[in-house]
Amino acid sequence: MKESVAKPIYNITPFTLLDYPHKSACILWFAGCNMRCLYCYNPEIVLGKGSISIAEVISFLHSRKNLLDAVVFSGGESLLHCNIISLINEVKKMGFLVKIDTNGSRPEILRLLLENNLIDYLALDFKAMPADFEKITQSALFLPFEKSLDLLIESGIPFEVRTTVHSDLISEKQLRTMIAYLEKKQYSGIYYIQYFVNNVITLEKLNYSYRELDDKKLSTSGIKVQIRA
Ligand code: SF4
Repeated sequence: MKESVAKPIYNITPFTLLDYPHKSACILWFAGCNMRCLYCYNPEIVLGKGSISIAEVISFLHSRKNLLDAVVFSGGESLLHCNIISLINEVKKMGFLVKIDTNGSRPEILRLLLENNLIDYLALDFKAMPADFEKITQSALFLPFEKSLDLLIESGIPFEVRTTVHSDLISEKQLRTMIAYLEKKQYSGIYYIQYFVNNVITLEKLNYSYRELDDKKLSTSGIKVQIRA
């Protein structure tokens, strides 16, 4: 994983109403990731270098004070950046809500952020169960992911768990195992399923993915499953 400390941000989406539930936000796209998910839609961000410095981000955010509700930290994996805690601290002091999109691989950073009340909302990617995790993410990071999930459940902050489903990579049976795992963990939020989007550039070339879950009853007594359009 290469990370530019001086210019860690690949790009900024200046305005969105789609990413932070019911809030206006901008998105900071951090370059670099410690996973290589086969279906990753952002190979240029994962493999590329940033071109925007922290100072430039701060200056941009000053110009958006009172215009935006929130800042979304996405990527890549923003929690890999060595100054992420101080940056998030500064963003909070400016009055923005903070949302983190994460693959869950940095529980030690997550713990510090939670202890300091620096996260308002978080989206955690649940890639797969241990048997399939390495194949899908090309990493051995299931245990850190699990630690992050445990920390979030314990913290009580609002967060969501979500999974991208490619029909070649996650079968209905595998998905039901993941649902049972979340139930055992006593996750209480909605579990979002996002179908893989065909015909876009991804990290690895994949076959066509079929939407095979629409008519399946996936929710259980403990876990509400929702397919995201
Ligand atoms: S999909 Fe995987 S490789 Fe792509 S940014 Fe997310 S965690 Fe990293």
